[in-house]
Order: sequence, then structure tokens, then C-alpha cells
Amino acid sequence: MRQGELFETTAGRDILVVGAGPAGLFAALAAAECGARVLVCEKMSSPGIKLLASGSGRCNITHAGAIEDFIPHYGAGQGRFLKHALFSFDNLALEAWFTRRGLPLAADERGKLFPATGRARDVLAVLLAEAGSAGVEIRGDARVLSARRLGGGFEVETSEGRHAADRLILSTGGKSYPGTGSSGEGYALAASFGHQIAPTRPALAPLVTVGGLPAACAGISIPEAEIVVRRGQKRVLRARGDLLFTHKGISGPVVLDASRSIESGDVVLVSLLPGMDRELIEAELLRQTSLHGRRGIASCLQALGLPERLADAVLEWSGVERSLGAASLDRSRRTRLVEAVAALPLVVERVGGFEEAMATSGGVVLAEVEPRTLASRIEPGLFFAGEILDLDGDTGGYNLQAAFSTGRLAGIAAAT
Ligand SMILES: Cc1cc2nc3c(=O)[nH]c(=O)nc-3n(C[C@H](O)[C@H](O)[C@H](O)COP(=O)(O)OP(=O)(O)OC[C@H]3O[C@@H](n4cnc5c(N)ncnc54)[C@H](O)[C@@H]3O)c2cc1C
Repeated sequence: MRQGELFETTAGRDILVVGAGPAGLFAALAAAECGARVLVCEKMSSPGIKLLASGSGRCNITHAGAIEDFIPHYGAGQGRFLKHALFSFDNLALEAWFTRRGLPLAADERGKLFPATGRARDVLAVLLAEAGSAGVEIRGDARVLSARRLGGGFEVETSEGRHAADRLILSTGGKSYPGTGSSGEGYALAASFGHQIAPTRPALAPLVTVGGLPAACAGISIPEAEIVVRRGQKRVLRARGDLLFTHKGISGPVVLDASRSIESGDVVLVSLLPGMDRELIEAELLRQTSLHGRRGIASCLQALGLPERLADAVLEWSGVERSLGAASLDRSRRTRLVEAVAALPLVVERVGGFEEAMATSGGVVLAEVEPRTLASRIEPGLFFAGEILDLDGDTGGYNLQAAFSTGRLAGIAAAT
């Protein structure tokens, strides 16, 4: 098809997909396999830029385990909406799909599935090779500016010309990491057809906290840390998972997953020695100080399992002198230390913005989309796939699985 040319009439349907992320590419492939002629318009010069950044360049495609266990990993109501898509093309089907194309997946110790090569670019390469063989045309530098009804189909205005199609699939992603191309433009396209957009906010975002403790510990991770989030007197949530101190605050899967429920001013209590409650920490500290009374208190904290920099930061935070000998630790200092180790309170200055969030909460309102086909309940012939929808999942491969499953379903439904 040349620039500005409208699709010619063919036996199959002509489908235009907006956005070449995992959802759009999978939708395009599925539609092409069903006999449709498919054009994908991508605003960036190349497809799948966010996919390349996923999983720190390793691409955590999906998660191991039963597909029904995925449901609670999406926000309230979202799991129910996704059920059909997930069950129609589950994690095993996704794994088999890549394995059949020469890219087996491998699980890490937490059940996250990555390409065995450890490279996101291999995932994208498989998708693009498949798209090529299925006859899908992908246009880069083709930003979709507007779309409208034209006869029984659609007319789409792009930065490189106009196109017509029988069916339109919007898969423009959310708003996070806007430098990858997903900057929220699809919401205006959906709204132009009368769709409501649930208010958006960053999801899977790191937290910026008040005070210098995290910076002093930047890079230290606590496996299976427990966090409790408090808002005033109210407990907002309790969660467990890996936590990472950063230069500005805290991150890591447990924090990213919790971030959608956290607000500025909340207090995050971090257990620095997971699995040990106050009584046990105090008993261990007493044991260490009586066994090694001539040692410094810092080395007793390290003996409990705290990394050196974290032990120093805890001492500073508790106002206990680093030079203090273990034998001189009085009750009040001991109580302060135990409290800090059991539940270090970090006040949230702010939740990271869209530029550092891995997903977007909010988007096209699910009640206006048919979950069995991803078809618009407002505009016949219009479909949605991926993160443009009001869908966001936990870390662990849940977002990409949702993108692939919804993409596939939308592509098949649009083509048939
Ligand atoms: C740093 C990072 C790491 C991540 N790691 C993981 C991970 O390991 N596992 C996981 O499950 N999830 C991960 N995610 C989330 C996951 O990448 C997204 O949920 C997923 O990419 C969403 O797919 P999508 O196809 O819906 O949207 P996107 O991947 O965002 O793709 C949308 C595409 O649409 C294009 N577009 C936008 N507007 C227009 C327009 N007007 N015209 C034409 N094209 C347009 C964009 O340029 C983009 O290419 C990560 C996210 C980030 C930011």
C-alpha cells in the first residue's frame, strides 16, 4: 500500500492496528492468520521500543503457574474482565508459541518467565519475523492523529497520510515511559468515538521518601521484605517481596506492586530482617551483645544479618553512636534499634511519575468494552488491546501476558 492510498477491497477484512507494542503486534498477527490484510501504524521509527526495555532488557514475558492464579494480580474488576482473554491464550500457550518459533522460555526462582536467551530483543525479533511471514505491514513514523467513521469502516489520518480500514484496533499503550512512544495519545482517539477514559495515574512506580537513609543504602536489596503501609492511623496494606533501596527512596517488586495504593504522606514500615519479629530481633541482639560485649554495636547488627551500610544507617537513624561498645547498649537504645530493624518507617514524599512508572493505571473504561472480543460496545468495528485499556497488573510478567492475550483476542475478533 502506498502513502495516502485507501485499502483496496479484498476477500478478507482490512484491519488497521494503531501501535506496534506487544498487544498491537500480536493483534496484527492473529488477524493476518485469520486472513485479514493488516496495516500497523507506529508513531516511533521502529516497533516495540517499550518491549525492548522490559524486564531490564530481559523481558519478563509471563509467569509460571496456573492461569487462574493470575487473576488477583490485576486491579479490582480487571481480573474478571481479563478472564476470557487469559483463558483463551494462557501462559502455557504463550510459552509454547515462542518455543515453537525457536525461543524457549526459562523461569527464575520466583516463577518469572524470560526468554532463555535473556534478551528482550529476541522476543521482538520473533514477533517481527512472524509478522513479516504473515504479510503484516508495519509502518514506522506513522503517528495516528485522528480516526473517524467512513461508510461501513474507518478513515484514519496519520502523520504520513490517510488510510481506510474495515476495522480498527487501538493498542497505543498507556502513558508510562513516554520516551518509548506510549504517551497516552490513544485515549483521545478512543474518546473521539465516545469512550470514557478512567483517570490515569502511574502504576508500578518507585517511591521517593523523605530523609537520607535510602540514599545511604542505595543498591542494597532485601529479599522477601515485609512492608506495611499506614495512612494516619489506618493500615492501607501489608505485602511481602523483594525491596531495593534507591538514591531517592525505595523500589523493587514489593514496592512497585504496592505503589498503586500509596499516596504522598503515607508511611511505609519496612522489616529489615524478614521473618524476625520484634521479640526475636531483641532476643538475638541481646544474645549478640552478651556474647560479644567488646565488639562495636555495628558488628552485632551485622551479625543479625544486616549489610554493613544498612547497619550504619540504622544506627544513625536510631541516634545510637556507631562507636558504642555492645556491652554499653542500654535498654532505651536497644528498643530504638529493635524498632528500626523490625519496622523502619519511611515517609513517602511522592510516588514516582509516569516517566519512571512501568505501567499506567486507568484508561479506556472496561464496562464499554466486550471482554470476549475486546470490541467497543459503543462503536461497531472498533477494538482495543493491551494497556490502553483500564488494566494494570503486578510485576512478574502479568502486564505482558495481558497485552499478548488481549491482542490475540482482539485480532481474531476483528478479523472474523
Ligand atoms: C521499563 C519497563 C519495564 C517493563 N518490564 C515488564 C516486564 O518485564 N514484564 C511485563 O509483563 N511488563 C513489563 N512492563 C510493562 C509492559 O511493557 C507493558 O505493559 C506493555 O508493553 C504494554 O503493551 P502495549 O502493546 O499495550 O503497549 P506499548 O508497549 O506501550 O505499545 C504501544 C505502542 O503504541 C505506539 N503509539 C502510541 N500512540 C500512537 C499513535 N498515536 N500512533 C501510532 N502509534 C502510537 C507507541 O509508540 C508504542 O509503540 C514494563 C514497562 C516498562 C516501562
